Amino acid sequence: MIDLVNVRKSFGDLEVLKDINIHINDGEIYGIIGQSGAGKSTLLRCINGLESYDSGSIIVDDKPVTRNKKELRELRKDMGMIFQNFNLLSRLDVYENVALPMKFWGIDPKTPESKAKIENLLNLVGLKDKMHARPSELSGGQMQRVAIARALINDPKVLLCDEATSALDPRITKEILALLQKVHDELGITIVVVTHQMEVVKQLCERVAFLKHGVVLAEGKPEELFVHPSDDIKKFLG
Ligand code: ADP
Ligand code: MG
Repeated sequence: MIDLVNVRKSFGDLEVLKDINIHINDGEIYGIIGQSGAGKSTLLRCINGLESYDSGSIIVDDKPVTRNKKELRELRKDMGMIFQNFNLLSRLDVYENVALPMKFWGIDPKTPESKAKIENLLNLVGLKDKMHARPSELSGGQMQRVAIARALINDPKVLLCDEATSALDPRITKEILALLQKVHDELGITIVVVTHQMEVVKQLCERVAFLKHGVVLAEGKPEELFVHPSDDIKKFLG
């Protein structure tokens, strides 16, 4: 469960999040959609503590997202994240990229259990045959698959996706969304998807919040939200 209550956040004079209230259920695929600059990435970064917030509260799995470094470290272990530009390390191969967070948590990636885990994840994302390829030898879709495997390596309860398909063409986008659905179904994790792409929330999300200038203007099932759209959503849809 992810609970945001009256969350506010400013950068200097710019109020980026204005009284955000969002409740995400365990095992849900929840979308946050809006135009560039709406505050989506900031909201996501507040959820995993990469960014602090000014007031209100954020609770993830009964634990408050605080500014206490030790508590944050523990909390982050439960949250994997993927990005638009994949953020792989080019000097490491696929296997080593997926193993990287293990090192951060003091887990030896060379033990038989670690190896089995990494191979299972590479299987899940369909990249077992690319285990020793470098990122430069992969397509964008393949790189995002590596990033997804890496985000899952510590068995997170939550996967946060920030514009994960925005750099990919429509066909590859569909494949990655299908993979996220599979990850959700097989691992039972909660997924929060931040995007400006309508097709992403339509294909993947059970519920979606429409964010504009740091305000949640509407929330509901994608089909509800977009069948009788408000003027703001109509404008967003173009
Ligand atoms: P989105 O992801 O919806 O495009 P962001 O959360 O990235 O929106 O940004 C929301 C607003 O906050 C934008 O106006 C952006 O310029 C501003 N912003 C984001 N990060 C910072 C920062 N670190 N310092 C100052 N302003 C920021
Ligand atoms: Mg963003």
